[in-house]
Formats: sequence, structure tokens, C-alpha cells
Amino acid sequence: MLSSTPAELVPAPGHDDEFASLFPEGATLDLLAEGGTWFEGPTWTGEDEIVWSDVVGNRLLVWTPQQGAGILLEPSHHQNGHTVDNHGRLVAASHGERAVVRRELDGSWHVLVDRHEGRRFNSPNDLVVDSHDAIWFTDPRYGIDKPEEGYGGTVEMDGCRVYRLTPDGNATAVTPPHPGPNGLAFSPDESVLYLADSEVGHILAFEVLDGGARLGEPVTFARLDPGPPDGIRVDPQGRVWTSCASGIQVFAARGPSEPGERLGSVAVPQRTANLAFGGPEGKTLAITATSGLYRLQTR
Ligand code: MG
Repeated sequence: MLSSTPAELVPAPGHDDEFASLFPEGATLDLLAEGGTWFEGPTWTGEDEIVWSDVVGNRLLVWTPQQGAGILLEPSHHQNGHTVDNHGRLVAASHGERAVVRRELDGSWHVLVDRHEGRRFNSPNDLVVDSHDAIWFTDPRYGIDKPEEGYGGTVEMDGCRVYRLTPDGNATAVTPPHPGPNGLAFSPDESVLYLADSEVGHILAFEVLDGGARLGEPVTFARLDPGPPDGIRVDPQGRVWTSCASGIQVFAARGPSEPGERLGSVAVPQRTANLAFGGPEGKTLAITATSGLYRLQTR
């Protein structure tokens, strides 16, 4: 750990007690690693092992308390978002390969899908795996439009959508185009899919229908101020935790057709891209924010 400071917790009006109850007494924001250009895509690959992306640096990094920070894969082909699937395999959204890729248990990497109806994806950004082993991922254009975040190339898609990749290898588009689809997270019972749109600055909530085969019409769950939302996570009680320019904001759980209510925010010293729960009891947040990897204990 490089440094530790008291966490700056700012409850929203009327939510002081509820927001304070989310964190242990004396919670600290711990800086674990630094030196990136645009850290993204954190996930926990063990109780005390965090893997995350240096998107611009074209590296995949790993942190453990014993070893500190190190390089797991270089070049990483500008991987962005990560998650661990139900079988312990690391799954990544790859800007450079314009694909969803997976690290098998033997350490080898494979492309799972890189096109839809014959056209290459833009640059898959973030992903989540549901309980049926389907991988849901977003496909904005940042890895093409920002030359430092990918290998460039020609846009083949007529928009930026959310896709669902089922274990049989078929990817289907589950939304129409959105301006900047980015982070994804399910409600605890997987009845609602949340989508962060970084261009619009809001989080949408979709009802999941027909066992995941299709989504209902979205409702605006939250407009962020400050935005933009990038990576998002849902805790076991259904609260939505989102990244933003100033750190993290937390919204109360609501039904699929109701807007979320902001409970408060956690200040992070740098623009925050993403976050992930993990650690010994799943209560520790790993936070990627520009050039720093941070850790925050929650309850
Ligand atoms: Mg993202």
C-alpha cells in the first residue's frame, strides 16, 4: 500500500445514517498502485488479488498485498473491462482485438466473439456474466475514436449497442444503439440490467424478460451530477454504485420503473473509471481512477 487517507464520505441530504451505515468506522481510501494513464476494468481474481487494465499503456496489471503491483499481460491489446465468470475464468473486453476474450484456467487467452452478423465490433468496453453463463457486454467506439486506447481501424457497426453472448457462441444485440454504452450490472435477482451511458451521463434500467432473451423499454434510473458514469456495480442489497468524475456515487435500490435515489458519494482524488467488490467477504471495493488503483472497505 502506497498511502492511506480517511475516506471522504458525503451523504446526500436526508440519508446521513443510511449512507454512513455502508462503511466501517474510520474507513480509509488506500492507494495500492499508481503510474497508469487510464486505469480501468478492475476485478478480483482471488480474495486478495486484483487485476485491472492500463488501457492506454496496453498492459494488464495485477496487485497482491505480498507482491504489490506487477504486469500480468503485455501487450494486453488495450483490454478494458474485466469480470470473472462462474467457472473462475477471467473475461475481458478488448479494445484492440475488438472482441470479448477469456483467459482459460491454463493461462491461455482465446477470442470468444469478435463480430456480429459479419461485422466487427467497435471496441467492447465492459461486461458482466449472468447466472446462466451468458456474457453481456457494451460496444462503444472509444477504442477506435481514441487512437491511444486501441489500434484504430474502420467502424463497421451502425451504432453502439449492448450484446449478449450465450455459451453456444451466439451474440445477439439486446438494445438499439445508444450514444455511449459503457458499464453494466445486474440487480441481485437479475430482473433488472443497469447500463451506464457515458455520453449522456445517465444510468438506464432495463427489465430483463424471457429469461434474458430480451429487455424491456429502458427507464432513466439516475442522471449523474457530476458525471459521467463509466463502470457500475450493484451490491447484494441492490444499491447501485457508480464511478464518476469526482469518485463514486451510491443510489438506493429501486424497482425497474422507478428512478434511483442518491444516498451519497465518496470522493476519490482522480477521475474515477470503474470499481469492483471483492476481498475476503466481498466487501472491499477496488477502484480504478486515472493513474491510481485504490481500495475502500465497505460493510
Ligand atoms: Mg468502461
